[in-house]
Amino acid sequence: MKRLVGCIAVVLLGATASPAQSQAVVYERARLIVGDGSAPIENGTFVVQNGHITAIGSQGSVTVPARATRVNLAGKTVMPAMINVHVHIGYEGYSTWGAQNYTPQNVLDHLQREAFYGTAATQSVGTSPVDASIQFQRDQKAGKFPQASRFFFMPGYAPPNGGPDQVLRVATNALHVINEVSTAEEARASVQKMAGKGIKNVKIWVDDRGGTYPKMTPEGYNAIIDEAHKRGMMVHAHATTLPDQKAVVRAGVDVVVHMVQNAKLDDEYLALLAQKKPYWATVITLGDPTAVCEHDPFFEQAMPSKVIAQIRATTERRPLAPSCGPPSPNAARREEILAYNFPKMIAAGARIVLGTDTGIEPGHTFGSGEHVEMARWVQLGLTPMQAIVAATQRPAELMGLKDEGTLAVGKRADFIVLDANPLDDIHNTRKISDVYLDGAKFDREAMLARWKTADASQ
Ligand SMILES: [Zn+2]
Repeated sequence: MKRLVGCIAVVLLGATASPAQSQAVVYERARLIVGDGSAPIENGTFVVQNGHITAIGSQGSVTVPARATRVNLAGKTVMPAMINVHVHIGYEGYSTWGAQNYTPQNVLDHLQREAFYGTAATQSVGTSPVDASIQFQRDQKAGKFPQASRFFFMPGYAPPNGGPDQVLRVATNALHVINEVSTAEEARASVQKMAGKGIKNVKIWVDDRGGTYPKMTPEGYNAIIDEAHKRGMMVHAHATTLPDQKAVVRAGVDVVVHMVQNAKLDDEYLALLAQKKPYWATVITLGDPTAVCEHDPFFEQAMPSKVIAQIRATTERRPLAPSCGPPSPNAARREEILAYNFPKMIAAGARIVLGTDTGIEPGHTFGSGEHVEMARWVQLGLTPMQAIVAATQRPAELMGLKDEGTLAVGKRADFIVLDANPLDDIHNTRKISDVYLDGAKFDREAMLARWKTADASQ
């Protein structure tokens, strides 16, 4: 316990938040990717004051305030910080995993990891305790924590004994986090209660996990969707099979989570997508299961060596957990379906947004999965520009973050400085020079130093 308290003190002292600078700072000579899909501004300039962008344009077109600090970014590319609409925060402890790790300090740690990799807002979906999360948001807004990704969350709904996969279920059960509802009346009453707390989104699980779980009934999800929409709330639906995705989209969910990986999409579903145009969090990759096997420092820098060793030593495949086992015998078939379904979803009108599912099982690094997910999209047919929009402007739109998601006047100065152009190669989003949140540089070096120290003490 003493050691734990020590760790917390280090966390809180380790990276004191810099106050938003009131003096103007001018960032110049960079390539600026605005995040709205428009052509990049070559040799661009932007001005940051009080944590917000106050001017932006090509060099020479921007009036620079007198006595501004100048930062030369020649050769660099700047893009908006990312927004991750789907993670499961709080349970990963990197030496243990589960409810015992769910503390404000651990939530903060995960948000700092997200910030390290360039994510300015992170949304935990269905697995965060409501009152504790509201308190965390208040404290974060009040500036009680060091710099980190902004925390968002939503409650989750399932029938009794349904919901998340076994590993996450055990952890969330201990905290009584999943709202188990049996009837439409119970569902409506619970959504009303959440609305009263100011909650704007809810998640539902519609999945029988191959016949092993009770699945939410149409009566249940229709009640939740109707009640939520009456109160201006959005519904995110976990659904992994074609019939389940069809059912939830037809019922009017706002966000579909997961990709159908075991069947090719049919015309009926594509017509539904064209009509409803839901947001779509693909969560294809859950980070990169092979990155650690290939000794990729981009992932390893944030991972304790013990976890890395464990993953490398795991040579049999495990469904959601990272391993260095051989590819699944279904891999080729699955890949063929992904390659077929992904462009069809997009062309039909599904509005792709960045989500990673990180934290659903042990052994994944928060923040790095975003880069893997984007690269996967490009491999499956998006342009790098489309991938960046889906990681910045569109999730901001989905989450109603009017001050986030693009480089534009009035937006928060939340941005990533890259050493190479991601429009040439999406993997260049990994060449992070600096991350800025609210106009203040996030201390990535301090994070690396902390991880090294924690590693040495294990
Ligand atoms: Zn999830």
